[in-house]
Amino acid sequence: MPTVEQVTRALATVKDPEIHRPITELDMVSGIDIASNGAVRVSVLLTIQGCPLHDRIRNDVMTAVSTVEGVSRVYVEFGVMSDEQRQALQHKLMGDRATRDIPFARPGSLTRIYAVASGKGGVGKSSVTVNLAAAFAAMGRTVGIVDADIYGHSIPRMLGVTGKPTQVQQMIMPPSARGIKVISIGMFTTGNTPVVWRGPMLHRALTQFLTDVYWGDLDILLLDLPPGTGDIAISIGQLLPTADILVVTTPQAAAAEVAERAGAIAAQTRQRIAGIIENMSWLPCPHCGEKIDVFGTGGGQSVAESLTRLLGGHIPLLGQIPLDPRLRTHADTGDPLVLADPDTPAAKELRAIADKLTARGRGLAGRPLGLTPVPHHG
Ligand code: ADP
Repeated sequence: MPTVEQVTRALATVKDPEIHRPITELDMVSGIDIASNGAVRVSVLLTIQGCPLHDRIRNDVMTAVSTVEGVSRVYVEFGVMSDEQRQALQHKLMGDRATRDIPFARPGSLTRIYAVASGKGGVGKSSVTVNLAAAFAAMGRTVGIVDADIYGHSIPRMLGVTGKPTQVQQMIMPPSARGIKVISIGMFTTGNTPVVWRGPMLHRALTQFLTDVYWGDLDILLLDLPPGTGDIAISIGQLLPTADILVVTTPQAAAAEVAERAGAIAAQTRQRIAGIIENMSWLPCPHCGEKIDVFGTGGGQSVAESLTRLLGGHIPLLGQIPLDPRLRTHADTGDPLVLADPDTPAAKELRAIADKLTARGRGLAGRPLGLTPVPHHG
């Protein structure tokens, strides 16, 4: 006959699909009954009523417990946590709400934060964010994305995230796809109604995304910022002082100028610019492969040079991503190019950028030193 210890050990391999921790650790297993014929009945407490993931939990529990020697059948029974139990779970995972802070802003936090910024919309900021996230995840890193682009909020679609966040007490569980957790401002607005977000509202929403969302241990957090030099950059500076900025631009001179202004905000918030990413750099001619400079050339390099002059240190041009219609078509079906078509030049360049970022140390280069920048002449 199997023992309770053996069944418990098997159950410890079952993770809650949202919290990504063993159900035994989360006190979700409320009972184990073993009959003399080897039939096992496991009682599982769901965090919320009507938990959409209960089929998955049932399957995982059945599979895990069936591997225990002597088990003839497995029955799974569901109950729902009481308020007190949920409160205890919240405390276990995130501490007290009253004293809760932003885990990524704590000294010693190991999460690397990249805020992806652009001067204007449509330059591919969200596409870059999603593909970098997928590239990091493919390297085995745990990744989260905060989609704070109030105008676009296109990240969930681009990643194929269809789930909605669920709430357990005052904790928000982010849906995920391909192991990437995503919270989007679009998940909290009804339908596709455009929302007029004022600075303070956005600051509050962002604060909530960072404090009340259960992210677990993340290696990398990416923030997709709205285009421009708005209040959100200032909020990021206050809430996440260790965030590094990635500036996305096209090669076009006009786009580069606005990108440079967006980057210069970092000088005020004293954030480090990890580098510049030029997107839509050229289109390979479908007949001869020659590069067609659809949007001109030199934008990325020029932003890198101006910001280096303005902020000191060396701000690199991290990569130049060519135009590729597949990047868009895969985004439309929720399949990031770096995973769907990894051998395309655009995917390779995106992966190379992800490699450079992970290889970088946490040096001081590019972090404004708080000195008055010397105006550049000529
Ligand atoms: P942003 O977030 O800056 O507004 P998006 O990432 O939404 O920009 O990109 C705008 C549009 O351009 C999308 O339709 C996207 O699929 C497409 N796009 C972005 N980068 C590329 C690229 N390198 N090649 C082809 N299409 C691209």
